Amino acid sequence: MAGRGGIVQVEDYEQFVGAETVARVKEKAKQLQDLRVVHVNSTYYGGGVAELLSSLTLLMNSLDIKTGWRLIQGSPDFFSVTKKIHNALQGAEINLSELKREIYEGVVYENAVRNHLDHDRVIIHDPQPLPMINHYQKRGPWIWRCHLDLTNPNGELWEYLLPFVESYDAVILTLQEYARKTETPQVFFMPAIDPFSIKNRELTEAERQQRLDYYGIPTDLPIVTQISRFDRWKDPEGVIEAFKLAREEIDATLVLLGNVATDDPEGEEVYQSLLDCREERIIILARQDTALVNALQSQSAVVLQKSIREGFGLTVTEAMWKGTPVIGGDVGGIRYQIEDGVNGFLVSSVEEAAQRIVELVGDEELRQRMGQRARETVRERFLMIRLLEQHLDLLNSFETIYNLT
Ligand code: UDP
Repeated sequence: MAGRGGIVQVEDYEQFVGAETVARVKEKAKQLQDLRVVHVNSTYYGGGVAELLSSLTLLMNSLDIKTGWRLIQGSPDFFSVTKKIHNALQGAEINLSELKREIYEGVVYENAVRNHLDHDRVIIHDPQPLPMINHYQKRGPWIWRCHLDLTNPNGELWEYLLPFVESYDAVILTLQEYARKTETPQVFFMPAIDPFSIKNRELTEAERQQRLDYYGIPTDLPIVTQISRFDRWKDPEGVIEAFKLAREEIDATLVLLGNVATDDPEGEEVYQSLLDCREERIIILARQDTALVNALQSQSAVVLQKSIREGFGLTVTEAMWKGTPVIGGDVGGIRYQIEDGVNGFLVSSVEEAAQRIVELVGDEELRQRMGQRARETVRERFLMIRLLEQHLDLLNSFETIYNLT
């Protein structure tokens, strides 16, 4: 890594995307220099949003765009309500009582009082801090960035949230298919990974082995892994079932690694409910260890992401970058990363997942071929510099609008 004090610079991406792209991005950033931008979300770790923000905010600063990252705080009550809102935005039922609205809007108001957002651009992530916009005198455009799968939100909830959404100047969604009818213009940015982070850089054989040994993960048999927050949408039960079916034909070790994000109160319960499934070759770990995520994604013969709903699925991108073939649920953003049968497999049932595990574990040549294609897909489409450029384009587009008015 070149860079100032170890911070990744856009030039570091030249080896992956070429000098022309780097020069173009730097040029676009020039027009935004000294602009004060702030991102607001509700957790520093655990989950894709925190993952994205930790890299994107630094990269923006490396281009002299003064970019901050603020966090809203809340009681367990608040996060229990916002998790229900999160689930209902992805299609679950919700009993949207007066009390729930009061807790939601009340805690957001308290955060608004504590956070003085007088920035030139404000980017609010996901539903937790969404109503903050009601409490400020805007000094520039506000953008709502929703990372969820909005294909089929609960109707009553969406109607309640819409006035908040329409107070924003723009909405960023992950995929075109998540578009909703809103007064506010919508743009579509797929997430991306930081190839220089501890999670994604190449580990030495020794580093990898050390992490796996530390947790007692055996490497004598092929490893099949799923790494996800403990969340029903990620279908951990389905992963265990698929593995058990596959094991009738092949020998392997399953590792389910998960963490619990601070804004996700359901995680602990989901984790506890899985513990009875543990056996010698089914390892279930609840740890936040970034290097272990990397070691597992690189070492595994197969990575699973058997989600039932998935806004995007950074875990898919991360494994693909390491040249590991991924078997993913045929849903949401996973479909935009995996081309079925080319750089991985898409599946819609436990049986299909089991069959693909058997196929991949038993065929090293297939794994290598798919893995190479997978890495190439990420290099071309899912590195952070692409997402950075999309943000610069969006921020520059306001400049034009504001200058004209
Ligand atoms: N993650 C992690 N440790 C874990 C589980 C997940 O570091 O035990 C990370 C994972 O590597 C990825 C992010 O959390 O970077 C999850 O993002 P994704 O888009 O897959 O799902 P989300 O949690 O946002 O629904």
